[in-house]
Amino acid sequence: MRLSEDFLQNIAKIIPQERMIQNEDMAVHTSFRVGGPARLMLTVENRDELKNLVVYFNRTGHKYFILGNGSNLLVSDKGYDGIVIRLSGEFAGITVDGQKITCGAGALLSQVSHEAADRSLSGMEFASGIPGSVGGAIVMNAGAYDGEMSRIVETVEVLTPEGEFLTLENMIMEFGYRTSIIRNSEYIVTEVTLSLQNGDREEIAAKMNDLAGQRRARQPLDLPSAGSTFKRPEGNYAGKLIMDAGMRGFQIGGARVSDKHCGFIVNVGYASASDIYDVICEVQDRVKSRFNVKLEPEVILLGDF
Ligand SMILES: Cc1cc2nc3c(=O)[nH]c(=O)nc-3n(C[C@H](O)[C@H](O)[C@H](O)COP(=O)(O)OP(=O)(O)OC[C@H]3O[C@@H](n4cnc5c(N)ncnc54)[C@H](O)[C@@H]3O)c2cc1C
Repeated sequence: MRLSEDFLQNIAKIIPQERMIQNEDMAVHTSFRVGGPARLMLTVENRDELKNLVVYFNRTGHKYFILGNGSNLLVSDKGYDGIVIRLSGEFAGITVDGQKITCGAGALLSQVSHEAADRSLSGMEFASGIPGSVGGAIVMNAGAYDGEMSRIVETVEVLTPEGEFLTLENMIMEFGYRTSIIRNSEYIVTEVTLSLQNGDREEIAAKMNDLAGQRRARQPLDLPSAGSTFKRPEGNYAGKLIMDAGMRGFQIGGARVSDKHCGFIVNVGYASASDIYDVICEVQDRVKSRFNVKLEPEVILLGDF
């Protein structure tokens, strides 16, 4: 995509130039630590900026992608020939009112969980070790152990491609296993209100510590990854199928099926995005031919593979 001077000047009328970066290395912004450059990265700090940009991009036919914390994302080595939007400023805010927490989509789940714990609010312990943003967690209906976003969300504020802010009730979010209405729409999550219960601060902290310990014991947290690479197939576990297919430690270039947890593909330090993609495809092929199960990636692919 060619970015004309006119186009860049029009964007600079909406956000300051220091928040516009051309050819930004996406490896810095993803937990896999791979991926080529984004043509343009914009950091957006308030609703007016976001609305004006989205309306402008839709009117002029420029494609854009909303980046959360990049913890479920595989960006092509060739990069992304479009505009990446990051939510910061007012989108990172967290406010607590009784048992309700309202947070911007750019706030981190870990921060919100700790804020909840500090206020003796229970229900979010499961999310404290998930390294995503609130927006990404809504899109993916992130979950772990005994919890899932769908169970604590009251309302979600979104921006439509036409530039309208809507408040969606939980019931119409179409939450499912690692999915929500946002995945199949062009809505941008801007703010979320969560409903929690009063609890005991010590017990909440103890549960968060316990879950963090379980993660450290079972997951390869010392190497870059995007968590579970595949969705859990019905009635089975991706990690077990991959292990039973004899693929523990299977490696292409610097991408490896984790020895600690076969459901994770890790970057041993020098992986490219195509190494990771090749491992994904090989795992899918072998699990399909061995067990006739189609593993679907949970990880979102961005760019051409
Ligand atoms: C070590 C590790 C452990 C993990 N453990 C878990 C786990 O236990 N459970 C779990 O569910 N996941 C887990 N994950 C995966 C990941 O953290 C979650 O899927 C998380 O919700 C992704 O959030 P993100 O902000 O990083 O989203 P990103 O990876 O940045 O983006 C994911 C998708 O959401 C979209 N998106 C992001 N923000 C917005 C927004 N505001 N509006 C519209 N679209 C948006 C993006 O466009 C993209 O399509 C783990 C990942 C790692 C690296």
